[in-house]
Amino acid sequence: MRTVLFLCFLILFGLNLQSCSSVKTPDDSEINAMALKSYEEVKSKAKISNNADWTAMVNRVASRIAKASGENFQWEWMLIDSPEVNAWCMPGGKIAVYTGIMPVLQTEGALAAVLGHEVAHATKRHGKKQYARAMKGNIAGVVIGTATVIGGQIFCKSESCRMITGLGGAAAGFAVAFFDRKFSRGDETEADKVGQDFMAKAGYDPAEAVKVWERMGAANQGKAPPEFMSTHPSDETRRKNLSTWLPEAEAVYSQAPQKYGVGESIK
Ligand SMILES: [Zn+2]
Repeated sequence: MRTVLFLCFLILFGLNLQSCSSVKTPDDSEINAMALKSYEEVKSKAKISNNADWTAMVNRVASRIAKASGENFQWEWMLIDSPEVNAWCMPGGKIAVYTGIMPVLQTEGALAAVLGHEVAHATKRHGKKQYARAMKGNIAGVVIGTATVIGGQIFCKSESCRMITGLGGAAAGFAVAFFDRKFSRGDETEADKVGQDFMAKAGYDPAEAVKVWERMGAANQGKAPPEFMSTHPSDETRRKNLSTWLPEAEAVYSQAPQKYGVGESIK
């Protein structure tokens, strides 16, 4: 596959063609393998947080959301010690939370809302769609070709992407597609809806999902948008949607075997 992609890159770069029809959409196992490679790379470079309270909180929230999703992924998560206000879940269930997002969230329930949203992107295979879109737009194709030569670093716009050095081939293309390409508005809306249900099923008060965006907005005033918000458009429509879906999510919450409400506060 890599040879085909590299040839595509040469053709695209040389002839400035707009598409390369021989690039097929990768299946789950291929995309998960690329994600795993990127995840291991981030993990090897990241400073893992030694905040015991926050680590325990991430452990219990992530495991509850993973269970609520009903997805049989090889789940893994880490709390990265970084001021970046960010969290993500790669295809295949590889999760990272950055310590910078914790004080902004204020409650365990808000963390459940963020992880619900990120896990929903993974269960709905949005990363695969995003990667396929990037390939069609030539961006990942160019990166994949170039990455084998110079490491793909010049294409990274985000800190998370830049952490991934030395990756070759498709995994580098995946990293750029995952970290630097925004999900479509439709995918964001779907992740909001599904994520709110996941958190409710996991036993967290789904009203916290609405509050997450208010807290993010408040923390953001007068500053450049944090990573999480720059890749997740926050607007009135989104808050309105989450409020509109609330009765449905509350019905799910009422069925949860255990209820934690908003959980512990984050200090
Ligand atoms: Zn999102």
